[in-house]
Amino acid sequence: MRVEPNARTEPGAPVDRLDRDEVFLEFTKSICPVCKRVIDAEVNIREGKVFLRKRCSDHGGFEALVYGDAQMYMDSLRFNKPGTLPLETQTEVVDGCPLDCGLCPEHKQHACVGLIEVNSNCNLDCPICFADSGHLPDGFSLTAEQVEAGIDAFVRAEGEPEVLMLSGGEPSIHPQILDFIAMAREKGVRHVVLNTNGIRLAKDRAFASALASHRTAIYLQFDGLREETHRLIRGRDLRDVKIGALEHCEEFGLSVTLVAAVEKGVNEDELADILRFGFAHPAVHSVVFQPVTHAGRHLEFDPRERLTNSDVIHSIVDQMPATFELADFFPVPCCFPTCRSVTYLLVDGETVIPIPRLLDIEEHLDYVTNRVLPDPSIRGALEKLWSASAIPGSATTAESLACATCAIDLPAAVRDLTKKAFMVVIQDFQDSYTLNVRQLMKCCVEQITPDGRLIPFCAYNSVGYREEVRAQLTGVDVQAVVPNSIELRPVLAIGPNGSMVAAAQSEPTASRDARNVGHAR
Ligand code: SF4
Ligand code: SF4
Ligand code: SF4
Repeated sequence: MRVEPNARTEPGAPVDRLDRDEVFLEFTKSICPVCKRVIDAEVNIREGKVFLRKRCSDHGGFEALVYGDAQMYMDSLRFNKPGTLPLETQTEVVDGCPLDCGLCPEHKQHACVGLIEVNSNCNLDCPICFADSGHLPDGFSLTAEQVEAGIDAFVRAEGEPEVLMLSGGEPSIHPQILDFIAMAREKGVRHVVLNTNGIRLAKDRAFASALASHRTAIYLQFDGLREETHRLIRGRDLRDVKIGALEHCEEFGLSVTLVAAVEKGVNEDELADILRFGFAHPAVHSVVFQPVTHAGRHLEFDPRERLTNSDVIHSIVDQMPATFELADFFPVPCCFPTCRSVTYLLVDGETVIPIPRLLDIEEHLDYVTNRVLPDPSIRGALEKLWSASAIPGSATTAESLACATCAIDLPAAVRDLTKKAFMVVIQDFQDSYTLNVRQLMKCCVEQITPDGRLIPFCAYNSVGYREEVRAQLTGVDVQAVVPNSIELRPVLAIGPNGSMVAAAQSEPTASRDARNVGHAR
């Protein structure tokens, strides 16, 4: 956006002064979406929305929408809890954020959630896959030793890690997946979560039973109820698969979170249907809405028209006005507050009560204005609930809810908090357009690599770490992925697995040596 200089028509005439059409909010760092070089960036408010803008000297200017409601963005900043140091960091500070992941000693928060991608192969080939997974000629499948090394690094960093997610690819097709879950439990991980598309869960009843015996929580990909949604996002109609998977989860008492990738113009109008489906299903205790991440393979998109957390919250309220209002959703304070928002509900049949109507959440989780001194036990309970590590349906979450609501006379119908509590999460992962190191430095969701690094998830997907680790694991050179955005059309080519890469990129990207230790400068 170019601002024309003030114009003076003739000597002595009044000068027409021009105002910028935006409010400058902050200066930060980001990366070029094409070459991944670290570049300056600024955050501005324009027309009530928040945009991140940056310029690469080789590839030009880029702008992306980062928050659709500027007022909500500004309000969220009070919910920024001081970070907690990890017990151990894995790398040194060498080149600065985000090239020293991680975690490096500059990182502001420990890992609430660790994530291990146990393979890159998948029984689907989703058109939107940010991990660039599928039926690959050059995939990887981690060995037990590699997974153990990752879990050990997590334990060294966290002591007693709260949540380990096993992901992929599709982790359920890894032949040793049950051994990995058992291993994590033996090493002291409190909650193990399986991120799955549900195909094996639907087909393999014994697998569901085995997961239940390991008390595994299920993150089930669930993008909507319409056939067209499935075809556009996943490439095939998976509705029967989801129903089958949920039946097995219910049969064996597995607690399920429905995880919906929300794409503008595809399924953003299905949020209420997904929520109502979740409220009614006995196995489901939460829904996570994730605006799709524009990394890896992805449908073409316009970064200035993308969905953000506040857009999803507005849509939920618009679609269910009798149930929700905007004030029911609060940012999660453990990460940067614009990363994730959450609310809890008490659900019993037609009765749905948002917990923020019963309890003044703001009074306890506002870390900046400190209008009242919060009750430490209630604040502690709410911090556990408004955390990336909260596992719906678990005893820990029920205990926190009981503590937070101890002074409230709950309606009899919703007193069983383990069964009746329902969590709704909105989580917008950053891509290489929206990446802001301010958010990244307080990230609490880390990708654990086989060489023992804990890399903030959005850095892993955007900065070049995913490509670097994949190249190490497969022995095949992996070109840096470039977002499939409309304005980058002229520089894009299709990579070997369907992702977009830079068509004529001769310079190496931000690829780093294996451990970022002793890096040649
Ligand atoms: S994101 Fe965190 S770990 Fe990575 S370089 Fe920045 S401060 Fe260090
Ligand atoms: S999005 Fe998930 S299910 Fe789809 S191809 Fe990627 S890893 Fe597989
Ligand atoms: S993974 Fe991304 S969106 Fe989530 S907390 Fe980390 S930086 Fe924020």
